[in-house]
Amino acid sequence: TPRRCSVVIVGAGISGLTAAKVLSENGMDDVMILEASDQIGGRIRKEEFSGVTVELGAGWIAGVGGKQSNPVWELALQSNLRTCFSDYSNARYNIYDHSGKIFPSGIAADSYKKAVDSAIQKLRSQEGNNNHESSPETPSTPKTPIELAIDFILHDFEMAEVEPISTYVDFGEREFLVADERGYEHLLYKMAENFLFTSEGKITDSRLKLNTVVREVQHSRNGVLVSTEDGSLYEANYVILSVSIGVLQSNLISFTPPLPRWKMEAIRNLDVMVYTKIFLKFPYKFWPCEPEKEFFIYAHERRGYYTFWQHMENAYPGSNILVVTLTNGESKRVESQSDQETLREAMEVLRNMFGPDIPDATDILVPRWWNNRFQRGSYSNYPIYVNHQLVHDIKEPVGRIFFTGEHTSEKFSGYVHGGYLSGIDTTNALLEEMRKDDGRKNESQAFL
Ligand code: FAD
Repeated sequence: TPRRCSVVIVGAGISGLTAAKVLSENGMDDVMILEASDQIGGRIRKEEFSGVTVELGAGWIAGVGGKQSNPVWELALQSNLRTCFSDYSNARYNIYDHSGKIFPSGIAADSYKKAVDSAIQKLRSQEGNNNHESSPETPSTPKTPIELAIDFILHDFEMAEVEPISTYVDFGEREFLVADERGYEHLLYKMAENFLFTSEGKITDSRLKLNTVVREVQHSRNGVLVSTEDGSLYEANYVILSVSIGVLQSNLISFTPPLPRWKMEAIRNLDVMVYTKIFLKFPYKFWPCEPEKEFFIYAHERRGYYTFWQHMENAYPGSNILVVTLTNGESKRVESQSDQETLREAMEVLRNMFGPDIPDATDILVPRWWNNRFQRGSYSNYPIYVNHQLVHDIKEPVGRIFFTGEHTSEKFSGYVHGGYLSGIDTTNALLEEMRKDDGRKNESQAFL
């Protein structure tokens, strides 16, 4: 027999947990939270690596110090999370060539400016095309290793210099790296404590079911029936679905009746980014450790090939850990090869930068977000010129199915605060719908 509750929430990442929080604040505690993996947090996820806590997913609180306060920064302050300021802007002055020389800062700054101008020009010409006007001259494509490296960091990390990005405009331009042994997820536990039973830092509430993979959502005018991989059934008035856009694009969850065509099309049209932080542990440091050398770049003839590096000395002094970030095609490539092969490739690049005598890494950690069937990617990516219909269709409910998650946030998709704010928005929309539903019931009763 199915278990009955008012609302089933699928997924216990930041958006799903925030949805549960808002329901609870509105007196609705009759909920079930079904989470496929064996822990809460979703894309907020720590792991122990060679004695320190590293964040495999979200690492930064982005957007701090502006005119409005970032709600995730507020949560971090309330939960006493340890963070350190990160200055990405230095990265462009620490670009290594294949012989280990750093490009002079003048050349790097010029190349950077050229890349920004060219990106702006390209956007304008796209905008022009959207308006059916002829585009001006096409910007030059990056060719040399330094141009490719800058193109990569600009487009895959720093588009804020090209177009205003809501996160930085609204919340400020500063970014803080979470460097806390309890992990970024500590902030989620602190939030969950207010509405779920916890004991000794663990959630013990029976309304949270871990290792529970939702496979089917049957829905009608009267309610929803949610089935899980282990054969359990949950009957509810509504379901809030917080799974990632990658999961929605996969066939993990089937819908009966199927989702309407406009919804399926929107889901298909949204891009999924893959972003992979590879952690490498060394017996000792051989890289410059000054704070302004935290980020450095390798200019390879192949775009995005072990380009973006970070040392962890600011966060965890003495940890002797380097992080290299790969994206999209390169991420998928390393996910499908052995970690030993990835280690070999990374060491070859490091030896180009720092010479043949550096020691081998003693440990490597390669997260696999793309091949994780509960994620299928790292975050959603809307085109710069957001098509408002697309965002609207992505978050619009289908009958009793409500959608939430970072991908449903018009202004802050791709971020933790996007997940948080979407959890609030979706739940407010659901509460509004419930009030209307009650109104309709009362009306028909009054009529009888
Ligand atoms: P999730 O956290 O993905 O929650 C969805 C949950 O649903 C998951 O727990 C999943 O296991 C569960 N689920 C999936 N399928 C099922 C199913 N069938 N049944 C039951 N449960 C299911 N953001 C920042 O702000 N700063 C950063 O520095 C940053 N860096 C990032 C780096 C990486 C590598 C990644 C992957 C993400 C990063 N992000 C960053 C983005 C941020 O992590 C996400 O935007 C946010 O955590 C998403 O929250 P969510 O609740 O929308 O989704």
